[in-house]
Amino acid sequence: MAYLNVVKVADALSQMKEKFPTYHAVEHIALANAVGRILAAPLYAYENLPAFRRSMVDGYAVKASDTQGASEQSPILLRYLGEVDMGDQAGEALTTGTALYVPTGGEIPEGADAMIMIEHTERMGPDVAVFTTPRFGEHIVDIGEDVKADESVLSKGTCIKAHHMGLLASLGHHELAVIKKPRVAIFSTGDELVEVFETPTGGQVRDCNRPIIQSVLEACGCEVVLSEHLSDHYEKLHEAIKTAVAKADLVILSGGSSAGHKDMTQAVIDGFSEEEQHPNVFIHGLAIKPGKPTIVGAIDQKAIIGLPGHPAACFITLKALVEPFVRGWMGTVDAHIKTVPCVANFQLYAASGRDVYQLVKLRTSDETGTFIADIVYGKSGMVSALAQANAYVVVPMAHEGVLKGDALTAYLL
Ligand code: AMP
Ligand code: MG
Repeated sequence: MAYLNVVKVADALSQMKEKFPTYHAVEHIALANAVGRILAAPLYAYENLPAFRRSMVDGYAVKASDTQGASEQSPILLRYLGEVDMGDQAGEALTTGTALYVPTGGEIPEGADAMIMIEHTERMGPDVAVFTTPRFGEHIVDIGEDVKADESVLSKGTCIKAHHMGLLASLGHHELAVIKKPRVAIFSTGDELVEVFETPTGGQVRDCNRPIIQSVLEACGCEVVLSEHLSDHYEKLHEAIKTAVAKADLVILSGGSSAGHKDMTQAVIDGFSEEEQHPNVFIHGLAIKPGKPTIVGAIDQKAIIGLPGHPAACFITLKALVEPFVRGWMGTVDAHIKTVPCVANFQLYAASGRDVYQLVKLRTSDETGTFIADIVYGKSGMVSALAQANAYVVVPMAHEGVLKGDALTAYLL
């Protein structure tokens, strides 16, 4: 695999999809722990929602036909029957010429076919005067009107979010079958790296990629089972990957992915191949800037991804390649990338043969609320730009570039 034989992100993703079978280990979890998890099977309603006819207002349950012609000028009197308490059954059927008080959410009695808001009524001794003529079915939610029994409510692959919880709880789905969290092993490589809690001496830097990789993968729904720093040492890297492949479903390395004499990621991954003509690495070089020195290989049908060591490049490749791969691999069906339209407040040239991923900082313009994107500069290897940015934009290789005032799509971080 000749390095620099760069592959477009979309092509890399489709090659990976072909190579790595969908991850479909399943576990059952409590609804309370379900946010961020992926449904392993479609979810159905086992019952109607609501299970009884409910009032949408505080007021009186009536027969609409009893109130024909009622208005402010000529109210109609109905016999007051009493009230339904919240959580209680409505009791006997409503008979002609009567009205029963039902609070919002309370059960409508048999025989009633409309609710009149309390504001349009007045208690008068044993009667209720109604000052309006309701439509048939007005202010009533019918049995099964929200969800019908046996209806499919969420499809397989849905990533559960806070806004799904109400539906699931209302239907009694207290336990859910979800995709197990794939186990991920993360390695940073580089003789110059020290741990976050250590003080670097001349030439050393703290390892900042492992925390970046871990947080992106956890946000995708993975569990990090192994996280280590490795020196640029072939045997050590080989042993570490061997252990990782046995323990994890996915292996991510950072650093050592280009063609320098200390860059061993490709050689180590290919070292697991028994035949030289069938190397494990099938992608070496991604058509993005930054992020070109990216490696994808397979060992025992498991993905081994080598990311560039430069922290911003490492982050961009996680966003551009790893995140979409993992979500697809886990069978996630809904789009996760949050985008907003914005207007460029900068000029930028396209890169020949590579899509440029540019970090930006969005702000809203005072007059219209439009998002204005300011460019966030950072020399290669600098980490402050990454922290300052709140989005990135993509300038495709086929474009000439971006001019100030151009409309762009920003991908939110
Ligand atoms: P490499 O991809 O190994 O050639 O590394 C490229 C640059 O990124 C070098 O300047 C490394 O020191 C730096 N780098 C690599 N890995 C890390 C890391 N985990 N944390 C911080 N910087 C790193
Ligand atoms: Mg290195």
